[in-house]
Amino acid sequence: MKIPKRFRTYCPSCKKHTEHIAERVKKGKASSMTHIARQKKRQSGIGNSGKFSKVPGGDKPTKRVQLKYRCAECNKSHQRPCFRAKKFEFKE
Ligand SMILES: [Zn+2]
Repeated sequence: MKIPKRFRTYCPSCKKHTEHIAERVKKGKASSMTHIARQKKRQSGIGNSGKFSKVPGGDKPTKRVQLKYRCAECNKSHQRPCFRAKKFEFKE
């Protein structure tokens, strides 16, 4: 799927259509103190790593794409519900 990098759309803070710049929301760094991270740390060693050995069912064919839309006039950004796509890139 391809979407343009710059396009005109509704800005909720200007309350009108303005030029927007789309950018991908990057995945944040995983915390090392979560329950699952602590469980995995305990499991690491010799032998079968049990339920952490592989992803059940394998990878999904589509990935979630979350975008941020930055308004060129007020420089504020808003987000919209994410969608799924096999391949995602920006059109020039
Ligand atoms: Zn705006």
